[in-house]
Amino acid sequence: MIQSTPDFSSIRSEAEEYMSRMKISVFPEVDMLSQALLDFVREFSWKKILVLYQGSEGLVRIKAVINSGFYELQRKREKIDVLYWEINDIEKTLKELRTNVNYKHIIVDIQTDQIAYFLDVAARMGILTSYHHYMFTSLDLAAINIGGYTLGGVNITGYSLVNTTGRLPQNLRRQWVESSLRPRAQVSSMLLTRNALVIDSVRLFALALNAYLDGLSDFETKSINCQSKSSDEAWDAGDSIYNQFSSVQYEGLSGPIRIDKGRRSDFHLNLIEYDNEGNVQLLGYWNKSNGLNITKSEDQILKEVQKELNNKTLRVVVKEEHPFIIVNRYDDSGNPIPEDAKGRYTGYAIDMMDEIAKGLNITYTTILVPDGSSGRELPNGTWTGMIGMLMTNKADLALGDLTINFERSKVIDFTKPFMSMGISILFKRPEPDPPKLFSFLEPLDNNIWACMIGSYAFVSVFLFCTARFSPYEWKNPHPCNPESDIVENDFTLLNSFWFTIGSLMQQGCELAPKASSTRLIAGVWWFFTLILISSYTANLAAFLTITRMSTPIQNADDLSKQTTIKYGCQYGGSTYSFFENSKIPTYEKMWNFMSQNPDVFVNTSDVGIAKVKSGKYAYLMESIPLRYQLSQHCELMEVGGELDSKGYGIGVPRESPYRDILSNEILSLSERQVLLNLYNKWWNVDNTKCKVEDDSKASSTAAQLGLPNLGGVFVFLLAGLLLAFVIAILEFVINAFINSRADKQTLWSEIREECMFAIKCWGPSEKSVNKYPHVNGNAGAEDLDDLEASQALKPSVMDTSFR
Ligand code: GLU
Repeated sequence: MIQSTPDFSSIRSEAEEYMSRMKISVFPEVDMLSQALLDFVREFSWKKILVLYQGSEGLVRIKAVINSGFYELQRKREKIDVLYWEINDIEKTLKELRTNVNYKHIIVDIQTDQIAYFLDVAARMGILTSYHHYMFTSLDLAAINIGGYTLGGVNITGYSLVNTTGRLPQNLRRQWVESSLRPRAQVSSMLLTRNALVIDSVRLFALALNAYLDGLSDFETKSINCQSKSSDEAWDAGDSIYNQFSSVQYEGLSGPIRIDKGRRSDFHLNLIEYDNEGNVQLLGYWNKSNGLNITKSEDQILKEVQKELNNKTLRVVVKEEHPFIIVNRYDDSGNPIPEDAKGRYTGYAIDMMDEIAKGLNITYTTILVPDGSSGRELPNGTWTGMIGMLMTNKADLALGDLTINFERSKVIDFTKPFMSMGISILFKRPEPDPPKLFSFLEPLDNNIWACMIGSYAFVSVFLFCTARFSPYEWKNPHPCNPESDIVENDFTLLNSFWFTIGSLMQQGCELAPKASSTRLIAGVWWFFTLILISSYTANLAAFLTITRMSTPIQNADDLSKQTTIKYGCQYGGSTYSFFENSKIPTYEKMWNFMSQNPDVFVNTSDVGIAKVKSGKYAYLMESIPLRYQLSQHCELMEVGGELDSKGYGIGVPRESPYRDILSNEILSLSERQVLLNLYNKWWNVDNTKCKVEDDSKASSTAAQLGLPNLGGVFVFLLAGLLLAFVIAILEFVINAFINSRADKQTLWSEIREECMFAIKCWGPSEKSVNKYPHVNGNAGAEDLDDLEASQALKPSVMDTSFR
């Protein structure tokens, strides 16, 4: 028995039937059709599918087709939501489908002759839109005339077994055409696939029989009673002929015919669709080894969408938000502007849409969203605002300051972003601080002032000590009397303080260091004062020219740590969801505050701005509209940086065919700098009212200088003092060595003696010359004998001043 039509009557008994050796089926196997359907669902990324079937037999059949494939998807943990609806009454079912907006991908398993009626009802229900995609399981979709239903942009797809586009052997094509000579619109039991399969079956039998007869001289036929159960009645040649089926292979009307164990082991399916002009188009093909292959190029798809767009008026839903969408309710003379009149809607987004419409040669109408919001999810799963309108097919595009975020991307699609921004803080510009009496102290921070005073004291004392130790700082106080045997030191403690303050104040003084060590101290101190005073002077100029304003908050962290200044955002918007879902401690804290004080939320930006102006309120809004508001209201300012980074896009219903073409146009406008020009136009970049304030704000960045800025100069000072200390020790030791020889005592006792004198900080600044013969104006005193003589002459001085 050769079976040419599908026999799905009982899936459970299928195995038993196939067990029957004498049965040959040229109809494709159910599990392979299932695989083809599954590949289609995967290729088109269908995640939410509605399956419509007829009768319990239909359910068994369609479940067998779908489930075997979907089990595989579930095994791979791919989330897929399949809902089965039985069609008892096409009208009723489609009415229900109209109200259930979530299902746009529909697999329909109905009798081929009911497809046209099904589409007719669907068209009346308004569910044949470009967002709906119907996949019919009938393999005869290409044979019925349903082209008229696709003019509205609906996608109708199906598999076809018969190669209607490929090349067929001439004789086969003739047979097929003759058997299908019935008007296409009147679908009857004489269908394309069935005809093709009957022809293929007969040919298959003929070829198998020929193969059996080949080489046989004698062929005996006998009449058999088909009702008989007895094996004695079986035809002896039957087994041999049956075996010949496996050896026969040929290209039939329904594709390559190859029989393996009574089943058709190989076949091709053509994936066809009805285009928007009602013609059948080949989308791709499927076979067992390669799966589904889409042959239609991206370019072709875009061209078709473009064609569809040209014949359509898009419904664009907008939300008022300056300067994206401005609703002009009255004209210059105070008369109301009608809803559909030109000039009722203006703004950046309208200009952009006009450019897109010009580029794609489309027309559009504008609808103002009734609740004035972008949209948020309600507890029952529906959405409000522009997003809700897209989901219920009340609009084709949503335009304005629509932020792209994760939650929304699950229910609608977005084009590529046309602008990027982040959340920022709008706050009232504080009044300028009153002038301060001690504002001259502000250029340097307190640490620097403290370090400077400390350095001053330390360097003065250090200079004094070094000068006492250094032999070169002792000089003859009576230059006219070179014979004087008394030397004195200019750097008393008081003089040292005077010397350092003189150079710090850039005035200098009459004292001059003579020893290398003290000169080094003076040098590094001068350098230190040079840097410090120049920095102070430069910063003082900046501080005196700016108007200082003390802002109580500098960023979001400051906001979160206080409750005096309230803060909030637009209710239900993307900023609201950002704080609601944030896991960052600062933002979580802010959300806790906001959710406990619901009065901080506003419905429109205008209300938020009015709240900010009235004081003690910070409004969290997106940086792009914020900057526009700054150019309009000079008393407002932006505080801190952006808290996140995201973009604005045009919203379209899920799977909208227009998304890619709109995205391409946005990219093109951006590359041609059309969007930049529009930004400059609407954001008044060149002639903002608040330019002067902005400039003053820019210069108000003068900051106090602190240790991080000037710490290096202290390090330099310290290094210089250390070097001076080393030199001073050397000077001291060398001199002690010379004196020890003159005094005829050991170096150590000489050092001890001289140390004793030097460390008497409050001691006299004069001493006997004999200790420092080489610094006395009387060079002859270097002579040892002379020194001894002078020592004998002036014992009293030595006694009181040194020993
Ligand atoms: N652009 C936001 C939205 O699409 C509205 C403003 C806001 O949340 O700050 O929801």
